[in-house]
Amino acid sequence: MNLPAILQKMRSSWIRRVANNIAPAAGVRGNFLAQLERFYDLMTQAVETGNPACMDPILLEWSASPTQSDLRTGEKNISALLNLLVMNTFELVREDLPGQDALAVMGAVLPVFIYALDKAARCEMETRVTYISNELTGMQNKLEHLDRSKSNFISVAAHELKTPLTLIEGYTAMMNDIARSNSNHQMDVFIEGVNTGIRRLQGIVDDMIDVSMIDNDLLSLNFQPFWLNQILDQARKELVASVVSRKHTLELRRFPGSDQMLFGDPERLYQAFRNLLSNAIKYTPDSGSIIVDGRTLPGFIEVTVADTGIGIAPEDQKSIFEKFHQVGNVSLHSSGKTKFKGGGPGLGLPIARGIIEAHGGAIWVESDGHDEKRCPGSTFHVLLPIRTEPPDPKFAKLFGLETKNAK
Ligand code: ADP
Repeated sequence: MNLPAILQKMRSSWIRRVANNIAPAAGVRGNFLAQLERFYDLMTQAVETGNPACMDPILLEWSASPTQSDLRTGEKNISALLNLLVMNTFELVREDLPGQDALAVMGAVLPVFIYALDKAARCEMETRVTYISNELTGMQNKLEHLDRSKSNFISVAAHELKTPLTLIEGYTAMMNDIARSNSNHQMDVFIEGVNTGIRRLQGIVDDMIDVSMIDNDLLSLNFQPFWLNQILDQARKELVASVVSRKHTLELRRFPGSDQMLFGDPERLYQAFRNLLSNAIKYTPDSGSIIVDGRTLPGFIEVTVADTGIGIAPEDQKSIFEKFHQVGNVSLHSSGKTKFKGGGPGLGLPIARGIIEAHGGAIWVESDGHDEKRCPGSTFHVLLPIRTEPPDPKFAKLFGLETKNAK
């Protein structure tokens, strides 16, 4: 008997055998039988024509609907189903056909099954990759949505908090006036306590508003001439009391470019450097040293703020610039703006990054890791473009400067 005739003769017993072995439940068998008949006919056609590509449509369909193969073993895997088909075919051939015919059939169907396995594995991989990439896109959309909600929440909460805070501030000022006119010193002390709380809260609310502006690309810079040494001096003056109380030394080195007139938003830059310096004070145990230095690079000025503090683990060195990120257990933080490990809302670095990036610069940290005993220290690097004229040529005239673009 020739090969097509043998395959034709085997058809019904192959289908029965495979169906019984793979899908014994009568319920699932109806649809499965039709699929098996189609598979067998395509396999026969592939053997006859010598072109296994005619099996592609069924293999593509099976791979696109993984549950089709989930018949007995629960494996959602076409390759596993094809392996079962190969095994059943070989068993049937061995049992039912004389040696010569069995060899001929095996030799003819084996390349077809190899092709099918290869094709199915590739299709399955593609289906999985598509599935996973869809999942990832969905996840990314969810994360973006969450981030937007978080950012909206911060903005709404900050604005809502600002109104009662202004009210409290106004009434406290009035109480302060009355206490003064009555020379009530005890009341003075209480009111000063309330004022400190108000200033702290205002700082947090302002930071929340700033971070939501940065998130929504709404941070606008007021470009003016500035000198880095002036900004750093000003920050030192504001923080000197904390530096002294923590027995630190704070050295501001003069570096090339520190006395050069540059253009940028001095108030915002002051805010960024103050955040870096107050962190250096906070995260360095008493009697530490903080050094601000810098250098010029082609087109940029680099400022470094180095401390001898507890340092930052490599895995945290990127994420500390994300909002609300704090390292370690927040409940163990001490309270106070510049106390050792004084807790904050985790907005200082994201704001600093937002400000520096809005200037076209970059900020990053270097540290040999986090160790509260060894204190490896941290060095924050700020890269600022050397801008010797305001970005808008119209303003150049205002400052008596000729710009290259202005006519
Ligand atoms: P906050 O200080 O309010 O927690 P920041 O955004 O300023 O928020 O800093 C985020 C985190 O980065 C801090 O909680 C701290 O763990 C870490 N960090 C920042 N600066 C330093 C520093 N100089 N040394 C060690 N850790 C630091």
